[in-house]
Amino acid sequence: MTKTRFAPSPTGHLHVGNLRTAVFNFLIARKAGGQFILRLDDTDPERSTQAFADAIKKDLEWLGLTWDRVETQSSRMDRYRAAADELRQNGRLYDAYETPVELDLKRKKQLNMGKPPVYDRSALTLSEHERLALKADRDEHWRFKLDLERIEWADGILGDLSIDAASVSDPVLIRGDGQFLYTLASVCDDIDFGITDVVRGSDHVTNTATQIQIIEALAGTVPAFAHHSLLTGPKGEALSKRLGTLALRDLREAGIEPIALLSMMARLGSSDPIEVRSSVDELFDNFDLSAFGAAPTKFDVEDLKPLTAKAISALNIEDISNTLTNLGVPADIESAFWNIVKDNIATRSEIAKWWALCRDGATPLIADEDAEFVDAAKGLLPDSPWSDQSWAAWTAAVKEATGRKGRRLFMPLRKALTGMESGPDMSKLMPLLQKINL
Ligand code: GLU
Repeated sequence: MTKTRFAPSPTGHLHVGNLRTAVFNFLIARKAGGQFILRLDDTDPERSTQAFADAIKKDLEWLGLTWDRVETQSSRMDRYRAAADELRQNGRLYDAYETPVELDLKRKKQLNMGKPPVYDRSALTLSEHERLALKADRDEHWRFKLDLERIEWADGILGDLSIDAASVSDPVLIRGDGQFLYTLASVCDDIDFGITDVVRGSDHVTNTATQIQIIEALAGTVPAFAHHSLLTGPKGEALSKRLGTLALRDLREAGIEPIALLSMMARLGSSDPIEVRSSVDELFDNFDLSAFGAAPTKFDVEDLKPLTAKAISALNIEDISNTLTNLGVPADIESAFWNIVKDNIATRSEIAKWWALCRDGATPLIADEDAEFVDAAKGLLPDSPWSDQSWAAWTAAVKEATGRKGRRLFMPLRKALTGMESGPDMSKLMPLLQKINL
């Protein structure tokens, strides 16, 4: 069975960058009728919080990205310990004692000599005496010993990839303070949960190479890997610094429709056009990982606005009925009200403004030079209740009486009734006006 996971660390809020990963993994699982697991990578006890974990769930729920189960890495320490023991027994995990400063110095020296900054494995050449001396006043960290061969995989987005293990440092799996690092934890989880497909950002390509060897060392099955490109700003600038301002909760606050965001993420960076879908289920249609390119993907938060307006305009009355009822829109005019409002709002929060206009009437907007004209028009207003013929009948009568026509006839009347210079078709709006303040 296809099984995917979305594995955020609960050390911050989800942003558009993580969302892309979530959407891909979600769609792969759902399209295949498989399982989608939410995994909280909370091995760092200082930075991970319950509040962030709750916020992540809330964001995913808002989007409708439902998960089949939640797993937390903090509850699996025994498993990671056992895996580390197994690797140690097989000679694949070794203790090292360099401090961060010493490692940094080594890297600088290598770079100065034009060499790649790969860990030199000097921990493996320590004599027993040296080792014990270091151990006496330092905490050891633990590194996975890579087999120095080419690591190859068929990447679902990037195509055939191969990385020479000799060009990569042996990854640290356990820190000096005993904390298991993501690399080991993630591998154990992917093996134990039977993950079949892993999609993540291209910043993880090197991790993937080392993780493939660790999976093999633990006799696990290597999943299918795919790495999506990273998002950039509209001009191609790095987004990393701005991601804090592109948090999903901020987009939610701004009234962005979840389906607009999902529709964008399911297509952005692919050869298929972005189409606003009406439900999460429709997103699976034609979703194809191989349609995505390797080049960095431009993202412009402004694009979410027209997509949101489109998504709102495509809502059926059944989808919005509750909102309208809660605002106090009477059931018999709900449908007519929605038909005129849906194309005149940027976010759902603006519906209330239109209902207030219909319910209470607007403060008329009357230019001095139109005062007399509007006064004359007021005397010709047909009796309410108004129908969709009323506007035509009224404006015809006013035209007849005043001789005005075109814009000079219609605009002052619109402004008098709605307080605005533009808006919905007046013949459709007029029957909905419960009150006017002329
Ligand atoms: N917690 C990791 C991250 O957010 C997960 C990466 C992965 O998908 O393996 O980068």
